[in-house]
Amino acid sequence: MSMISDDKVQEVRERAAILDVIADYVSLRKAGANYLGLCPFHGEKTPSFNVNPGRAIFHCFGCGIGGNVFSFIMKIEGLSFPEAVKFLAKRVGVAIEDRPPTPQEKRKLDEKESLYRITGLAVRFYRRILSEDPAGEPGRRYLERRGVDDVTAEAYLLGFAPDKWDALTRYLEQQKVPLETAEKLGLVRKRDSGGYYDMFRNRLLFTIADPYGKPVGFGGRVLDDSLPKYINSPESTIYHKSEILFGVDLAKQAMREQGAAIIVEGYFDHLALFQAGFRHAVATCGTALTSGHLKLLQRYAGKVNTLFDSDAAGKKATFRSMELFLEGGLPASVVELPAGEDPDSFIRKEGNEAFAARVAKARPIFDFFVRDQIASHDTGSVEGKVKVVEDIAPYLRKIGNVVERDLYLREIARLLGVNERTLQKKIGGTTVTALDFVPQREKTQHKTDTEDMLLALMGKYPEVAGKVAEYGVAKLFSADLEPIAEAIITQFKSGGLVDLGMILDLVEGPEERSRLSALFVNDAHLEEINALEMFDGLCKSKEKEALRKIKYLSRELDREEYGSPRYREIQEEIKELCNKKSQLQ
Ligand SMILES: [Zn+2]
Repeated sequence: MSMISDDKVQEVRERAAILDVIADYVSLRKAGANYLGLCPFHGEKTPSFNVNPGRAIFHCFGCGIGGNVFSFIMKIEGLSFPEAVKFLAKRVGVAIEDRPPTPQEKRKLDEKESLYRITGLAVRFYRRILSEDPAGEPGRRYLERRGVDDVTAEAYLLGFAPDKWDALTRYLEQQKVPLETAEKLGLVRKRDSGGYYDMFRNRLLFTIADPYGKPVGFGGRVLDDSLPKYINSPESTIYHKSEILFGVDLAKQAMREQGAAIIVEGYFDHLALFQAGFRHAVATCGTALTSGHLKLLQRYAGKVNTLFDSDAAGKKATFRSMELFLEGGLPASVVELPAGEDPDSFIRKEGNEAFAARVAKARPIFDFFVRDQIASHDTGSVEGKVKVVEDIAPYLRKIGNVVERDLYLREIARLLGVNERTLQKKIGGTTVTALDFVPQREKTQHKTDTEDMLLALMGKYPEVAGKVAEYGVAKLFSADLEPIAEAIITQFKSGGLVDLGMILDLVEGPEERSRLSALFVNDAHLEEINALEMFDGLCKSKEKEALRKIKYLSRELDREEYGSPRYREIQEEIKELCNKKSQLQ
């Protein structure tokens, strides 16, 4: 049992709009009354994940997972029910008083809070220097030279670290910040001789934020050619580099709208795109792309365009990321710019439209890779061909989609001028067998029998719920569905709209919950029907079902020994069915 009161659970449920919550993890588009996206719980290429905002439920017809906003969070964040309620409560601003945390939990929580607070203070400090302090003059001049306006500077929370050893240190001291905690964030460092000094000096600072816009670190760039060009905040309790991409907070809305993301390398690449109106960009900023980053992107976008430098290092980064994309099943393409150009310089010279055209012409990453391999080997010779095939094979095997893999195989064979079958053999393990052409299990909607149909009808039409109440739930439903029907009736009687999301919480097993969410999520077919007529029809088929069952049981009865316990059991069952049947007429 959770320690959270039902009132609180209800309050959170009402405030946490399921569409907003899920949209943070899945990129959704409107399809009829529902929203449709790629299921985050099983790999799929065509969307079968449905969210019905009106009913506050979701269901995936691919893997059968479904439920309400709490079940979604439990599943995707790996939380228990009370934890999921708390998780969402925090998000929607509902205060939940709970058991006091253990001293250890409290310490951890306090430390995190204090790290966020210190980062926030540092952002404010550096931001003020850049926007108004005389010490920020070099930063302001630099931004002017690079054509960064005030609006952008504010959106990015740009700051400037003055050319001093103790500017931030002193400020933090004034704010009564324990400097040993600030050291954990890499903002200050301890001197051997005692005391602390600033880590960022004479640098323009980019604020790194989490997806919700909470600052967690900084990237600091020099204003001249000195090295290192960038210093980034170290990993900390609040900044996990493998899970955060720069600019994701600024880009998430646009990524969702476009269903796509652009990945660039640096802060200024990101900024250039942002200023030019390409808002769906994120930047890796010196960290290699990880599967954590991929998961983050998949919350918002169904495909990505990479835009790494065209030099050797950029190419290497592109190919390294390709492995992740192939494994993660996230379609990725490569945007190519002329040698020596970055997004900033390209847009400056060629303009926005030219850039958009480059993005539109982006080539699938594997295609890009294959062509690069072919270009960098002597494919006129047999040895060269063998080498290319050997280099490509491991990646080709990672392409999960058989059809796609087959297409590449053919294309590579054509480009190299080798026999397809030979290539298949060489690649091994990817030999397409007849099995590969067996269509995936049909995604049929769950068969809805009479009782399921009746439940769906009750959920949508109050008059049917009223009828069911009149008849008596027990007569129409089997024992496992009774509580659900009862709950729908109770909700109608209390005058509210039926909250199917809440009703799903009453369902015990995950399988049963999945079956019902499937039933409730797509109720468009119940529009514009005569509900009462349908109800009568359902009662009739219920009656037929009962008749069938009676017949079946009668036959079984004939086989049983008269008077045996099983005989009496069957007799009871038949009597009950007859009873129900007569009441349905
Ligand atoms: Zn699924």
